[in-house]
Amino acid sequence: MGSIQVENLTKRFGALTAVDAVHMRIEEGEVLCLLGPSGCGKTTTLRMIAGLEQESEGDIFIGGKQVNHLSPSDRDIAMVFQFYALYPTLTVGQNIGFPLRSSALSKEKIASRIDEVAKSLQLQEVLNRTPGQLGEGEKQRVAVARAVIRDPNCFLFDEPLSRLDVTLRQTMRGEIKEILNGLSKATVIVTHDQLEALTMADRIAVMRNGAIEQIATPHEIFTRPANLFVAGFIGTPAMNLIPGTLKSLSEGQGNIDLCGQHVSLTVGQEISRLSQDTSVTVGIRPRAFKLVSEPTEGSLAVVVDLIEPMGAETLIHAMVEDMEIRIVLEREQQVSVGEKLNVVSRADQVLIFDNEERLVTS
Ligand code: ATP
Repeated sequence: MGSIQVENLTKRFGALTAVDAVHMRIEEGEVLCLLGPSGCGKTTTLRMIAGLEQESEGDIFIGGKQVNHLSPSDRDIAMVFQFYALYPTLTVGQNIGFPLRSSALSKEKIASRIDEVAKSLQLQEVLNRTPGQLGEGEKQRVAVARAVIRDPNCFLFDEPLSRLDVTLRQTMRGEIKEILNGLSKATVIVTHDQLEALTMADRIAVMRNGAIEQIATPHEIFTRPANLFVAGFIGTPAMNLIPGTLKSLSEGQGNIDLCGQHVSLTVGQEISRLSQDTSVTVGIRPRAFKLVSEPTEGSLAVVVDLIEPMGAETLIHAMVEDMEIRIVLEREQQVSVGEKLNVVSRADQVLIFDNEERLVTS
């Protein structure tokens, strides 16, 4: 039973509420990413779970046991930091085995555990080197190995990949995910990198100003963001959030005034709870647009302002009145600056947010 549960977890630094009444439960075998902009309270939340920061209010349970009063070493957790702090004069093998130095295990048993863990992290070849003789990816794996060897109840990672270059990050994301899958422990990973969260997490908790805005699977967060903040924060390029007014509804079609244009969009039934002339925000991802040759009821007329080639795709910045929207097209679809385009959004890919910034759901 290695779940992590926090209830009403709150941290105040003087007048600042860094973490504000957070509730969440991470099941054994589950990876939860805490994601959000700098200063939103991710690290403070993690540090309170670890016992490195005293909570102002709230309860923390690990494996069903309340741990608020326990010291970090008595919480049976392993933490991997952004700065992995390996011992520079010890070999990789000694670094990995370090947490077992005062255990009751025999020397032989410790050596075989080191071998076993080194093998699972592909570090057998470098066991006799010192950290100074390793690449960044290897150092990161040693830090993970050192956490894994203790076989703790759960894992906490603080920005584990932020020091790696882009290519290495990509590889390590997959590797760490695979390792965690094999360990079946509750794991919390703090990151400000949404790609890291989307690829590594079973669920993501998106934080802002100390509070959780949404906690859900990566798919749910991406396709059904609970509010405008999550919608704008997740996805690259960012979702277009276009202010409009709902004029009327008929059979799944919403007639909406968008930046001075009257557009008919396919919307979900849930929008029927909104009344006529309500202010809404229409969320459309840049990849959800397609070009049409002639204006239609559902099309939006835009003028190309800037073109950014992105390899196989092109990012178009286009203007609708004085509002800029982002459209991603296949590279083959050539357009030029100043050109007038008609775009429609793919059915089922239009999200409507109400005037309180919440996704309109049934
Ligand atoms: P980052 O991604 O930049 O690390 P974060 O989301 O992890 O940000 P925290 O480090 O948890 O955010 O900080 C949350 C807020 O609490 C910030 O405003 C920060 O300045 C403040 N804070 C954190 N630690 C302390 C402290 N020891 N004393 C006072 N304020 C603090």
